[in-house]
Amino acid sequence: MTGQLSPKDTRGYMRGSAKNRMIIMAHPDDPELSCGGSIALWSERGRVCNVIVSCGEKGTWDRKASPLLVAEKREKEARKAARYLGVERIVFLRHPDGEISSVKTLKIELAALVRKLKPYTIVTHDPWSRYFHPDHRATAQAVIEAIMIARDWHFYPFLLEIGLKPHRAGELLLGITENCNHVVDITTTYRKKIRAIAMHKSQLGQLPDWQKRVRDRVASDGSLAGYKYGEGFFKMRV
Ligand SMILES: [Zn+2]
Repeated sequence: MTGQLSPKDTRGYMRGSAKNRMIIMAHPDDPELSCGGSIALWSERGRVCNVIVSCGEKGTWDRKASPLLVAEKREKEARKAARYLGVERIVFLRHPDGEISSVKTLKIELAALVRKLKPYTIVTHDPWSRYFHPDHRATAQAVIEAIMIARDWHFYPFLLEIGLKPHRAGELLLGITENCNHVVDITTTYRKKIRAIAMHKSQLGQLPDWQKRVRDRVASDGSLAGYKYGEGFFKMRV
């Protein structure tokens, strides 16, 4: 599921444990929708941290709803789903929903978290997906740049001053994708994925036929590798 772990790479950086994974997604329900089955597997064997860039406060069709209360509700739903899947830590960056931009501040926030949490695997959206949401694309682009900022000594020297030394991640997984080259077998955790998605109660009305759509996708991704259910990614070494 992950590449070979070398205790120390040739540039002298300690790699994080291959069991450390960081899921960086735009909205509170994205981790479960794109990789909930994989998270359930990964958290059994290692440490998973979720980073949610926006609270998704505009994610309602109720025109009378207060975006502040929607945000609060969605954070609670995300915490519950993350806890259920065994996620160790969840961080909310609270950027504005629908307006996430790959701005310098977001890249530095993410780079600081990568240096602190030391993931081997980073999972985000596929910024080249045809079916993209602008927030997903902006988040993914910021993640790709943050990996570089986190890795090199000369970006933002203040990071060193606050004790955050460079960290080189090992691999980047991009999903949901049309360019799948890596499938995680989630046959045993598929039900957990469904239950975790169902915890995002505020969103289910806006996801018509969600159970069928999720099942169709994981069946289709799984079939690429001969699994009953799978979650597909475009995997890159970084
Ligand atoms: Zn999303």
